[in-house]
Amino acid sequence: MSAPIATDVLVIGAGPVGLFQAFQLGLQDIRCHIVDSLPHPGGQCTELYGDKPIYDIPGLPRCTGKELIERLQTQVKPFAPVFHGGHSVSSLAPQADGFAVATAQGLNFQARSVVMAAGVGAFEPRRLAPEAFKALHGQQVFFAGQDPVVFAGLRCLVVGGEASAIEAALQLSEVSGPGAPTRVGLMHRRDVWDAEPALVERMRQCVARGQMQLHIGQPVGPQLHDGRMHGVDWVNSAGETQALPCDAVWVQLGLSPQLGTLAQWGMDMQRKQLAVDSATFATSMDGVYAVGDINTYPGKQKLILCGFHEATLAAFAIAARLRPGERTTLQYTTTSTHLHRLLGVDGR
Ligand SMILES: Cc1cc2nc3c(=O)[nH]c(=O)nc-3n(C[C@H](O)[C@H](O)[C@H](O)COP(=O)(O)OP(=O)(O)OC[C@H]3O[C@@H](n4cnc5c(N)ncnc54)[C@H](O)[C@@H]3O)c2cc1C
Repeated sequence: MSAPIATDVLVIGAGPVGLFQAFQLGLQDIRCHIVDSLPHPGGQCTELYGDKPIYDIPGLPRCTGKELIERLQTQVKPFAPVFHGGHSVSSLAPQADGFAVATAQGLNFQARSVVMAAGVGAFEPRRLAPEAFKALHGQQVFFAGQDPVVFAGLRCLVVGGEASAIEAALQLSEVSGPGAPTRVGLMHRRDVWDAEPALVERMRQCVARGQMQLHIGQPVGPQLHDGRMHGVDWVNSAGETQALPCDAVWVQLGLSPQLGTLAQWGMDMQRKQLAVDSATFATSMDGVYAVGDINTYPGKQKLILCGFHEATLAAFAIAARLRPGERTTLQYTTTSTHLHRLLGVDGR
């Protein structure tokens, strides 16, 4: 177990609202750490519609999901929030002087306040449906983000029909020498691909050259010997079960949001959302706030703009909580020399 990282505020979730939360906390002269199960910030904006345009961000008539996240990252830079990617928060427990928060990957935080900006849940890789593959996770069954060196010298099967699956299979097929797998297969349930035509064409040429095998069907289970997988049983498009020699499976089925253990942390929830007071965005647990898609209150709309408003009011409430006795006054970024100093600008 790692030594706890002490912070005034821990923001759980680095989607658009979590990032703007860090900015608003910065304007209150409060530093924070941000943790996300994804390796990079962005939440739904980058995972679900990175290249699609958004038209309803105030003052930005048109920007893609990725552009919005880049702009939010630039905006928050003066406050240098510490980002911990690839960490899913698995527990939160109130203590006398704040909260003990732990991630499933082994990080621990000691936070005076916590902001839940967890959206629709932690983005986790989709798994293969047959349960029998579960025991092989991390040993012979791997997910997106895996360093492909583990596939060296192995008979490898990539499963998925999105661009990421094709790219992974191409990446493995196009290496040669000692780092290369001995055999690469790509399996998808239909010969229909969710990818640019040029990428699909590159994959088909690779198959035609014999550098990759294409399997249209679905895996149904591993073939095991002494607990080790040496093949995969799969059903082809004609419904026939076949065996495929295989030492490693690289699952590339995209991501799905998982609420995980959040519901057991002791906060009031309504239909999988955290109930909040819409004046402060405080949850039912004193010191824990919730902003963005994860919260609910009368009139709630799951829009980025609404999340930005919520993060602003939550920052005021957190400042009042962390600095009791000090007046939290409204200041304008245009005219306040105090805010200019925090932002590192001269305001002219
Ligand atoms: C297809 C599509 C189009 C959309 N278009 C628009 C639009 O045009 N305009 C608009 O205003 N809104 C739009 N939305 C809605 C908008 O994307 C959401 O309102 C917004 O992303 C919510 O931001 P958020 O930061 O609250 O949550 P999210 O973007 O969901 O980010 C939450 C983050 O928290 C992380 N997380 C969750 N739980 C944990 C945990 N336990 N540990 C660690 N990390 C965790 C997740 O991995 C994720 O990165 C659209 C949504 C979709 C799906």
